[in-house]
Amino acid sequence: MAGQSRLWHFHGGLELPAHKSGSTTEPLTAAPVPGVLIHPLSQHIGSPSEAIVAPGDYVKKGQPVASATGYIGSPVHAASSGTVIDVGPQPVPHPSGLSADCVVIETDGRDDPYVGYDPLINYRTLNAPALRARVRECGIVGLGGAAFPTSVKLNVGTGLKSLILNGAECEPFISCDDMLMRYRAEQIVSGAQIMLHVLEIRHCCIAIEEDKPESHQSLLKALSAAGDERIEVVRVPALYPEGGERQLIQVLTGKEVPVGGIPADIGYLCQNVGTAVAVARAVLRGEPLISRIVTVTGSGVAQPRNLEVRLGTPISHVIDACGGYTEAARYLVMGGGMMGFPLQGDQLPVIKATNCLLVASEEDIRPRSPAMPCIRCGDCATACPAQLLPQQLYWHTQSEEFDRVEDLNIYACIECGCCDLVCPSHIPLTQNFRYAKAQIWSQKRERERSDVARNRFEARNARIAAEKSERARRLAEKTRMLQTGAADPAAKKALIDEVMKRVGDKKDSSAEESGKE
Ligand code: SF4
Ligand code: SF4
Repeated sequence: MAGQSRLWHFHGGLELPAHKSGSTTEPLTAAPVPGVLIHPLSQHIGSPSEAIVAPGDYVKKGQPVASATGYIGSPVHAASSGTVIDVGPQPVPHPSGLSADCVVIETDGRDDPYVGYDPLINYRTLNAPALRARVRECGIVGLGGAAFPTSVKLNVGTGLKSLILNGAECEPFISCDDMLMRYRAEQIVSGAQIMLHVLEIRHCCIAIEEDKPESHQSLLKALSAAGDERIEVVRVPALYPEGGERQLIQVLTGKEVPVGGIPADIGYLCQNVGTAVAVARAVLRGEPLISRIVTVTGSGVAQPRNLEVRLGTPISHVIDACGGYTEAARYLVMGGGMMGFPLQGDQLPVIKATNCLLVASEEDIRPRSPAMPCIRCGDCATACPAQLLPQQLYWHTQSEEFDRVEDLNIYACIECGCCDLVCPSHIPLTQNFRYAKAQIWSQKRERERSDVARNRFEARNARIAAEKSERARRLAEKTRMLQTGAADPAAKKALIDEVMKRVGDKKDSSAEESGKE
């Protein structure tokens, strides 16, 4: 891929209206710090963090308030200084609409900084484990939406060919990566250099779509200033869902990541451009992840724009910073127009995965017409970037034949919504596939639980049988000794003496016990 001149295609995909101009006309600015910050303990893929503060504690900006548990975990840091007022369940942004444990901080307006992480300016003198440890302790996770811990992703072993920085922000309405590339291109380049050092490779490709000329120019300028020939910028066609890492890798390399595999299996590692900036700030400035760029857009918000928002900020506060709601506001969505999910209210906090807040009108989001029977047109299969057969997946999901659904590679579905969009019968296919995945997981968990119970039962039976057999063996041994002793009076006497001594000892200890009473 080095010295990229050729591009490939992925299967399917759609050209969609971008809806990005509204949020990219204003410059990138910071949202004010709110009066209260709500930090969920689980805002990444992996095990939830564990709170290390209690109500009444004073915390500084950037101080850890929850530590990572498990290898696939990430700590959480206070996004400003103030007093912890609660550690407990709060509503959080999640498709389930459930609550989860959070650390709630009442800010004091001082933004008093925590000095816990030294800048590692000479990072090239450090080895990969030391730098991964810095990335982990600063709570860096993938900022493209998946929120997978970056230190784990950077620990892929040796033999990679290239690092790919994903700036292909293909989903309608979302423009946070575009603004990041326009305004923080030099930090993206620094992040790429640090990751190349960690991965011990010599090539990085920053992929951006052709409809982002300002970003392209900013990146070229930053690269020219860095004079680093290991990094190149490649422009790719604007086609949804090209920002999916499998699709992007296929476009750049012509190779497909195997189903069930990861990009590293074929020699590539993909990171979002925002993650690169977070890595650069963690290493070069000692800054933990306490803010991110959020696109606030849609006809339902007065001044659509991109803001750097402190993590934990209530969404209502972010909307206020954009002039509040308009009369057209109907839906509040986290994410873009295709893969976003509706939120149940605006008191929920911005988390590490919040790339976009879409305040949509009826016109922004295509109202779904009533579903009709499938006419077997095959349009869904033509549009599917994962080369699945959505109509068959749908039939088997409807019949609850989840074994067949698994056979049809449901896990390769990235829930992009392309099949829904093209279906002339308006069948909510993606929603069905989410349901199918949830059912399969739940059945697997149930099977695992039964397996554990059965294994325990079998282990108990085996232990009882082993004890029984041991007792029988001992009895047989004693019988054998007594029989041997019959032939050898001295041995028999010794055995009887030993038994008598044991009986005597037992009587003495019983008498002592009675005396105590
Ligand atoms: S939602 Fe899944 S099945 Fe539908 S087009 Fe996307 S990847 Fe294919
Ligand atoms: S696009 Fe809709 S109607 Fe056509 S085959 Fe797929 S599910 Fe059936």
